[in-house]
Amino acid sequence: MIGRNELCPCGSGKKYKKCCLQKNQLIEFTRNKILYAKGLYKNMENKIYEYSKTSSFHNDRDVCTKKFHISQDSNPTIDKLYNTYFMYDYRNDKGNTITKMFIDDNKLTLSKNQINLLSSMLKANISIFKIEDIGITKSIIRDYFNDNKIVVEDVDALKNLKVGQSIIGRTVNVQGMNIFVDECIKVSDKNLKIILDNIKQLYKSNSRKTKSIKEFVIYNSELIYKFGQQILLNDKSHILNSLNTQVKKEIESKDNNNSDVNIYDALRNNMEEKYLQKGLDLWRGFIKSNKSIKGSENGWAAAIEYYIKKDAGEIITQAQVSEKYEISPRTLGKRYKELRAS
Ligand SMILES: [Zn+2]
Repeated sequence: MIGRNELCPCGSGKKYKKCCLQKNQLIEFTRNKILYAKGLYKNMENKIYEYSKTSSFHNDRDVCTKKFHISQDSNPTIDKLYNTYFMYDYRNDKGNTITKMFIDDNKLTLSKNQINLLSSMLKANISIFKIEDIGITKSIIRDYFNDNKIVVEDVDALKNLKVGQSIIGRTVNVQGMNIFVDECIKVSDKNLKIILDNIKQLYKSNSRKTKSIKEFVIYNSELIYKFGQQILLNDKSHILNSLNTQVKKEIESKDNNNSDVNIYDALRNNMEEKYLQKGLDLWRGFIKSNKSIKGSENGWAAAIEYYIKKDAGEIITQAQVSEKYEISPRTLGKRYKELRAS
């Protein structure tokens, strides 16, 4: 602890209270917020991890191990990456992730906050980023595959890195803050070029199945994880082999993958309190009898709202509701018919 009136440790010659005190307090404050967010994440991750260890997933674990690892050697960093991949990215033969199944099995006992966190965890994905700015409490990274900028408040995550460098990383949004899941892997410029060229090439030969290179990378995240492993396992951090990984033949379309968690979210964010419970119940009943659900979450949520309000005798048009959810009246009409038919 440095006294307020002592000389500032930065060497400026000023008193601490007139120099770095405020800045350091801000860093400490942010660090505590991040620690709290990481705690929430860890807590939920432990629940999913326990779930993933049940015997029903033994076979999936074997399949996933073969798909993920590039070496037999055990390495704690890579084991951690493997767990992340297994829980959030790996899809079983029905196209479901462990996390998605965890949500489905625990839906009725999860709180709103837990559902929100899980929804963020489902949206998180590993990617390659350029570090565009490293600030005192906020840094900016840019995704090479879709150019999206992400502001991360994870103050210590980039401390050994510089602006302009590239990393493999996975961020997740917890309570409005982006934190890194697992450690970032530094990628040299030379490796960056190899990875990006390689992935572009794989995307080209498989592009019929995905809408964008970003989506391709999300559905084939083992590619990034494999490049990451090559960097971690090689002393010189060189990527020796380009990957010619066989890309999974059938990539589910984004619509198919739409988790109904997003629909609960859309309802909670849009529906009035007095109708919300009815809306949630209607949806719960609907998904029980309809296993495969296609279409955007907003389309479904809009149809549910329309359904409930109409039932309650409100005077409301499909056009009004579809505008609220930013979808076309046609989509609403279609989903509404499907709801009515069940
Ligand atoms: Zn100072």
